[in-house]
Amino acid sequence: MRLGTDPEVEKFRAEFAAFIDEHQPTAQEARERSRSSAHLPGWARRWQRTLFDAGWLLPGNSPEYGGRNATLEQVLAHQEELAQRRIYHSFNPQGVGIIAASILTFGTDEQKKKWAVPILRGDMTAALGMSEPGAGSDLAGLRTRATLDGDHFVVNGQKVWTSGAHDADVLLAFVRTDPDAPKHKGISVLLVDAVAEGVVRRPFPSMTGTDDMDFNEVFFTDVLVPRENLIGELNKGWAVAHGSLGHERTMLWINYAERLDDLIRDAPSDQEWYATLQMDAQALRLLGYEQLSGGQNPADISVLKLFGSEAVQRAHWHALEERGTDGLIHPQRTAPDNHMNHDEFAASWFERYARTFPGTIAGGTSEVHRNVIAERILGLPR
Ligand SMILES: Cc1cc2nc3c(=O)[nH]c(=O)nc-3n(C[C@H](O)[C@H](O)[C@H](O)COP(=O)(O)OP(=O)(O)OC[C@H]3O[C@@H](n4cnc5c(N)ncnc54)[C@H](O)[C@@H]3O)c2cc1C
Repeated sequence: MRLGTDPEVEKFRAEFAAFIDEHQPTAQEARERSRSSAHLPGWARRWQRTLFDAGWLLPGNSPEYGGRNATLEQVLAHQEELAQRRIYHSFNPQGVGIIAASILTFGTDEQKKKWAVPILRGDMTAALGMSEPGAGSDLAGLRTRATLDGDHFVVNGQKVWTSGAHDADVLLAFVRTDPDAPKHKGISVLLVDAVAEGVVRRPFPSMTGTDDMDFNEVFFTDVLVPRENLIGELNKGWAVAHGSLGHERTMLWINYAERLDDLIRDAPSDQEWYATLQMDAQALRLLGYEQLSGGQNPADISVLKLFGSEAVQRAHWHALEERGTDGLIHPQRTAPDNHMNHDEFAASWFERYARTFPGTIAGGTSEVHRNVIAERILGLPR
């Protein structure tokens, strides 16, 4: 089989590459580090807006939503160009990739204008309030309550792991609106003002380091949310959850494939793991292309996510192990500098390894994806 792409796609790729070369922020401009996944330093806002206005933020969207009605192959080329250069199109990934996408799919025209466009243009940032203590993998077990009282919902409860909540302007919160319905059927989705009375956001550090303050606990006490902030239909929030996460997951594997390529470059070795790393990188790309060119089973996404995230983790472990105690030294540059991605490259090998864990947890844990593969691909009993 010969792999190749259409000349139109290559033209599109070249046009985007030229755009990046011309407009990408310089190292001088991009000095301020983004401190969380909803904090946009001025240069990062300008970069996102530049991409939006030129139709390069999410090329598959229509021009009014930051795109140019690109085909799936063109969207893939766009993602590959960004991932290869390790450039983020936005430093508010949940806002752009999940929340604005959900509003565009499920929201009203008014909601798209009021929230989706400002989030996509970097004028506003958003955080995702799905997980709760006791409701992560089992999202449908969520207990944050919203009771409709006249033209407002009254929200009470708690979220956790809410990335960037302390820097976000709005929160997309999944809440229980019908406690008597079966658990998947009583959920709704609300856009909540992050500084509304009764919202408390408490950031806490990750295992990567005490200065890595992205996670939050978010508490809601009698928070009043206008009825018009309901995204999608009342009690039909499960469809939004699936739609939102689906957007994120389809092409996630491209990032894992690029991370494997980074390691091929950054950690050359004459040991066996390095050969495995090269084969994993190839295998992941081939599986990903096959899935995109008309994969039969939506559960194939689970194969890509599981294989990609675990291959990245395994290879980082070997790179760390080979370096022994030197791998613990921090800070130590483990790759050429990249001003669009300060953290990764100035980190020790241990920190690079530690940063692979989110890949195996967020977006569905490895165990959950193994269950999906067992049941929906291999046909094993539950
Ligand atoms: C970096 C990062 C960022 C995140 N950002 C956000 C965010 O912005 N907003 C948000 O809402 N959430 C966020 N999350 C939370 C994430 O969605 C949850 O961590 C994830 O869904 C897992 O839920 P949990 O942590 O409650 O673990 P649990 O679901 O409690 O799982 C604990 C363990 O049990 C296993 N397990 C659970 N169910 C099964 C099963 N049925 N079969 C076999 N094993 C099982 C899991 O695999 C895991 O090993 C983030 C997580 C990370 C790591």
